[in-house]
Amino acid sequence: MRKGIATVSISGSLDVKLEAIAAARFDSVELFDADVVSSPLGPEAIARRCADLGLDIDLFQPLRDLVGLTPDVFTDRLRFARAKFELMERLGATRALVCSAVHPASVDDPDLTAEQLGAVGAVAAEHGFTLAYEALAWGTHVNRFGQARRIVEKADLANVGVAVDTFHLLARGDGPEALAGLAGDRIAFVQIADAHGLSMDVLEWSRHHRCFPGQGVLDVEGVVGVCVEAGYRGPLSLEVFSDIVREADPRDTARDAMRSLLHLEEQLRRRWDGVDAPEASDRRRRPRVELFDPPPAPAAPTVDVVDLAVAPGDSRTLGFFTSLGFTADEGGADTSGAPDRTVLRNGEAVVVLDARSDLELRRSAAAQRPHVAAIGVSGDAESDLPARAQALHWPVVEATEGARRVRATRSPAGVEVHLDGQPLAASPLADDGWGGLDHIGFAIDTDRSDAEVSFHRTLLGLRPGPVSEFIDPAGRLRSRVLQPEAGSLRVVLNIAVRAPGVPTWTGVNQLAYACTDLLDRAEVLRGAGTPLLPVPDAYYDDLAARLDPDPALLSRLRRLGVLYDRDDAGGELFHLYTPLVAGRFYVELLERRGGYRGFGAANTPVRLASQAATPWL
Ligand code: MG
Repeated sequence: MRKGIATVSISGSLDVKLEAIAAARFDSVELFDADVVSSPLGPEAIARRCADLGLDIDLFQPLRDLVGLTPDVFTDRLRFARAKFELMERLGATRALVCSAVHPASVDDPDLTAEQLGAVGAVAAEHGFTLAYEALAWGTHVNRFGQARRIVEKADLANVGVAVDTFHLLARGDGPEALAGLAGDRIAFVQIADAHGLSMDVLEWSRHHRCFPGQGVLDVEGVVGVCVEAGYRGPLSLEVFSDIVREADPRDTARDAMRSLLHLEEQLRRRWDGVDAPEASDRRRRPRVELFDPPPAPAAPTVDVVDLAVAPGDSRTLGFFTSLGFTADEGGADTSGAPDRTVLRNGEAVVVLDARSDLELRRSAAAQRPHVAAIGVSGDAESDLPARAQALHWPVVEATEGARRVRATRSPAGVEVHLDGQPLAASPLADDGWGGLDHIGFAIDTDRSDAEVSFHRTLLGLRPGPVSEFIDPAGRLRSRVLQPEAGSLRVVLNIAVRAPGVPTWTGVNQLAYACTDLLDRAEVLRGAGTPLLPVPDAYYDDLAARLDPDPALLSRLRRLGVLYDRDDAGGELFHLYTPLVAGRFYVELLERRGGYRGFGAANTPVRLASQAATPWL
């Protein structure tokens, strides 16, 4: 389908916005009135610029406070509309968005509003223009999609339809059912935005916390799907207002925006292909539209290799992993023959210490060693991750894994992700070693968090859950879990919100390995003097008060410094942490029992406080 974006969704001057939008291969733009007014280019030059860049102007927006007003005010606003229609002629735009009124003179009178919409529609028709009427979620009297729909039906003009803005519709608690029975030609425009799950004033929510589809919590796919099923064939156009987008690089935003639309199309395809639709009747609804069809996301993605950049001769990091039970492959060197790589294993857990130069590693942060520089992800026989990354416009480059050439991309948090997964041979110690990664944590800046969600969502098919917030001694920590439909790879995004100037490491900051018999393993680690994160005594008193574990278990947890959680269904989590290594990453060892699916969120504040108070390794 055609893909568009509102110029308000991108930062920069209008010229910069248009260039970024064209570079991300959009078909069209919604020109925001204020962008036109504040541009030195002038309407004709803007039109030429769009044409030169291959961008159609699919919408001029918004015409505010135009209808649903006292008659005297309406007369003046009709004059305003005529002037804007003249501007649209100069721009070559033929479709305008009219939103519901928030004006002090607005009236609660659907009949009058329909009459005024009809009057403006008749003037628009003289120009050959179409109007899309939108119920702003905070409109004084018209703020629900159903109200706008009834007013449009009452106005009953061929060139006046309803605007479907997924944010406005869903923010008021309506869903796809609000479109039931609506003919596609009555939908004059579809604007797409998602939003973060927040409880606040709807205007504040809209202006500051919208995001691209798939980054938030709204059922964008459901609403867009019903529009297309109804016969809507106009553009899928993004309209996102957000503080993050306002400050971000316009080219990054435009690419991120395009990926979100491509992924939305992929979801629609799945909906209509019946993959996600158990009912045969749903499959028959499949509209004949062209939809993005990339190689599929892996059904069960896994992280096979964790590659740590270390300084040459770094014996500390080697000692850290050795103390956790990791052992080096024969001779310590990479079996592929790369002398600067040491492969360490502990059962299914594999870590590679990589002491090659910055140039060989091609990593921007390689001066800060040790840090997790790369992870190797693999899919399944059907998936082709490099081709999928390319289709989604994630840049794919060549990298090396020892002597092996692999294709790689980079997450917005700066982690190199190798896409030609090739699990290293299983360790002979698999029986008594650790399991593989249960989850992997990424520390990210607030302003890159939506982009990082998009990365894991679009490339690997992981689905984001809700955001949890914790108190951190230096500020706040917001965390968001992404999980696949199947498989074991879980990614936790840790978004530290700290005072300006407090340096925060971004990149992989947590390696959480699964194991069996965690308490026995904790005995061994404690006995061997492995540096583990201390847990305050008060934690166990609180644990006794909250969960009342068996006294023998409680005293063992206390003695070993093991954290514990239990869910409502009786599932249990046992886990322990190491202190931070160089302030950049830490290892967690955990055992899930009885189907426990969480991450021990109740224990996170204790972990954060203890890590802040414990010297780095
Ligand atoms: Mg809108």
